[in-house]
Amino acid sequence: MTSEPAAAATNPSSRKEKAHAKKQAGFTTRVLHLRVKDKHGAFLLNQAREVNFVWNFCQDHALQVLRREHVFCSAYDLHPYIKGAGAGEEGLSLHSQTLQAVTEEYVTRRKQFKKAKLNWRVSNPKSPKYSLGWIPFKASAISRNKRNGGQVRYCGKDISLWDSYGLSRCELGSGNFSQDSRGRWYLNVTVTTMEWPKSLDPEKVSAEAIGIDLGLKDLLCTSEGIKVEAQQFYRDMEPKLAVAQRAKNKQRVKSIHAKIANRRKDALHKLSTALVSKHQAIFVGDVNASSLAKTNMAKSVLDAGWSTFRTMLQYKCDSAGVWFREVNESFTTQDCSCCGARCGPKGQAELNVRHWTCKVCDTRHDRDTNAATNIKVRGQAWLEAEFEKGYSTAAEVNPVETAVNKDSQHKISKKSVAAGVGHGPLDVGIPLLPAQAAAVG
Ligand SMILES: [Zn+2]
Repeated sequence: MTSEPAAAATNPSSRKEKAHAKKQAGFTTRVLHLRVKDKHGAFLLNQAREVNFVWNFCQDHALQVLRREHVFCSAYDLHPYIKGAGAGEEGLSLHSQTLQAVTEEYVTRRKQFKKAKLNWRVSNPKSPKYSLGWIPFKASAISRNKRNGGQVRYCGKDISLWDSYGLSRCELGSGNFSQDSRGRWYLNVTVTTMEWPKSLDPEKVSAEAIGIDLGLKDLLCTSEGIKVEAQQFYRDMEPKLAVAQRAKNKQRVKSIHAKIANRRKDALHKLSTALVSKHQAIFVGDVNASSLAKTNMAKSVLDAGWSTFRTMLQYKCDSAGVWFREVNESFTTQDCSCCGARCGPKGQAELNVRHWTCKVCDTRHDRDTNAATNIKVRGQAWLEAEFEKGYSTAAEVNPVETAVNKDSQHKISKKSVAAGVGHGPLDVGIPLLPAQAAAVG
């Protein structure tokens, strides 16, 4: 255990400042979604039932106070009535931090929806109003199991997970356990991890940059001319889905929907990992999926999963030390990537034009490859400006002193940051930094 001298000295007062300091020091916060092993289902279900009980108790109490005194209870007001409910042998088995989290969540939701009364939480799974299991907790209620990386310790129990992210290398924050419609349990938890320092060698980065044009027919086309076909998961499964819906087999419908989502996610994960592992900089067009989703191409757009894909690229780039930027893609299909003349096919009206020849420089273009090349050029221009501005945060910050993680293995040396090592490994969800890798062995 080490103290935090720098943090104490500068004393960042507000939470915002602290978050900013973390970001500057190369830390990034994200939410992990991990499947809990099924053997814990009964325990979690019991906890969820108690959460519902506490939620309904809060609501009941708050409504009585509202009726009698015409004031809304705050979480602070509710807390004394809840406090100690989890302590006694005859009391609830919930963690005291979960009890607090429930009251706070209740008050937050009530404010958010501007309602005096929220829905009661229903524990009976046969009821049509059944509330899917939910167990919130605060950061201090959960910890990593030091001996077993695939487990977290919650409420005196070791919960086993399918750990695809390397949880043992993260600092856990608050979160919740949640149940999906098929009765599977997940751990959703915020974690703090370290960003891998990006390469600061302009030539190297520029040489290994790639532009990506997102599309409907092809999911993506790169500036290197590689095309990846959009796998039409939904359309593939549509006949089976229709059969299940006609048969009113709810369980089957749910499982088909889950299968579609899983297949899509799996494909996008593989694709984004492959792209991030091969490049130093990735630029993507900023296609607006939500506006296209309203047109007659809606199903294809939703199927393509552009925004999911961009999010994946973003966080994988962060953790692998790769530059990432969404660039404005207006006119990228029309401009010639050789001479810059605007003579290409126009947007959706000429969507069927796959190849065209520039009237000015006579270059034959593939529509999508040309667009991807333009995106890459715009990205490189942005990067050049960034380097000129003197992108030097990596050299200036002192991560050792602002480190928030208590374990020494989370620290990185000044040297590795200043050097801007660039590419990190992607074999696990969150790569190790050189110093960490050495510490872990
Ligand atoms: Zn041209």
